Amino acid sequence: MTLDALHPNMQAQYEIVLERNPGEPEFHQAVYEVMLSLTPIAGKRPEYTQWSVLKRMCEPERQIIFRVPWVTDDGEVRINRGFRVEFNSVLGPYKGGLRFHPSVNLSIIKFLGFEQVYKNALTGMPIGGGKGGSDFDPKGRSDAEIMRFCQSFMTELYRHIGEYTDVPAGDIGVGGRELGYLFGQYKRIANRYESGVITGKGLAWGGSQVRTEATGYGTAFFAQRMLAERGQSLEGKRVVVSGSGNVALYAVEKVHQLGGTVVACSDSNGFVVDEAGLDIALLKEIKEVRRGRLSDYAAERGGSVRHITDGSIWEVPCQVALPCATQNELPEAAALALIRGGVELVAEGANMPSTPEAINVFDDAGVLFAPGKASNAGGVATSALEMQQNASRDSWTFEATEARLETIMASIHDRCIETAAEFGAPGNYVVGANLTAYIKVADAMVALGVI
Ligand code: GLU
Repeated sequence: MTLDALHPNMQAQYEIVLERNPGEPEFHQAVYEVMLSLTPIAGKRPEYTQWSVLKRMCEPERQIIFRVPWVTDDGEVRINRGFRVEFNSVLGPYKGGLRFHPSVNLSIIKFLGFEQVYKNALTGMPIGGGKGGSDFDPKGRSDAEIMRFCQSFMTELYRHIGEYTDVPAGDIGVGGRELGYLFGQYKRIANRYESGVITGKGLAWGGSQVRTEATGYGTAFFAQRMLAERGQSLEGKRVVVSGSGNVALYAVEKVHQLGGTVVACSDSNGFVVDEAGLDIALLKEIKEVRRGRLSDYAAERGGSVRHITDGSIWEVPCQVALPCATQNELPEAAALALIRGGVELVAEGANMPSTPEAINVFDDAGVLFAPGKASNAGGVATSALEMQQNASRDSWTFEATEARLETIMASIHDRCIETAAEFGAPGNYVVGANLTAYIKVADAMVALGVI
């Protein structure tokens, strides 16, 4: 991340962001990536790179940090830190997930909130951007502990959220179970059955079909569309998907439905290589039902499956790579390994999994690359479809909802391509995504005045 790579208009601005937000490397990185993409616009439409717009973009509208006290099953009092960063509401209520993971801090939540603003703008739905979470580690906690933690978290969060204000959802460590406890506590405190206050709800209590599958399915749809643009498809492609959480599982499922073969996925202990193609039913049973590990998958699947604990999943040769685990999981060395293994396309299912150096490597090698804010936008887009169903007290079929998701991903893809071409960077999805979203948010901010 060198300052020199930025357009001269933005170098001083980026330095101000560094100064104003010390000790927040992930936030700096997310801002840097957007500023880097603004280079083509700085020449053609300099008004967009004026500091009066950019400085408002880089400052969250509101940042909430709170204590989350809870009691373990053994009666011990624990304290975690809760966050909600309400980044930008110019296009709609703040919208974005909650992450429960020990690595969570203000920098992580601010980077995620910043990304969410642009991702949400790309969906074309009326949603602003925000993100929240806690440094709580759900791993190894009982159901009762998870419930008490979620209730305590919501006891503070409830006063900041609402159908028209801020609408949380899931992210790493927050799935159907946690969202149930969070929604339940909100309902109890507010004494309102306000379905549209949270998305990712269960189907029996206001959730939408396809929301569980949406981020992973959307990433696979996006990759398919990138290939279609070049007269190809996922049919017969050898694919590697990192992670084995919600995004990864459904990316694997959709790649298989589209005719590709996913040969590897990972968790925090290592990765499995299954040359026959991952058995998605077994994987879902282990990860979603039993909350188990990939070592269980290797043991139960048998055959030639290898469980590797001392290497990188990016060493596994493939034509398509879908990083679906977490931020900065794919550094420069991994990008070089992927290229040695014959990678042709990388589409991000996680938020900011590739470092700026890795993205450069892909760019130089002519590898097709889609940034998460475009290729993983299917999750939040389907959240907006859930809000639509809640507002009209309706529920749509799986087929109708999935068709909407596929159309949304295709239109994000096509907008990226058009914008990239318009600004002299044909085929560059990073420039296309960042500029499409940035222009939309900036126009709305200028229209609404200095607020
Ligand atoms: N956490 C997801 C994301 O990164 C989904 C957010 C939502 O549905 O609000 O986009």
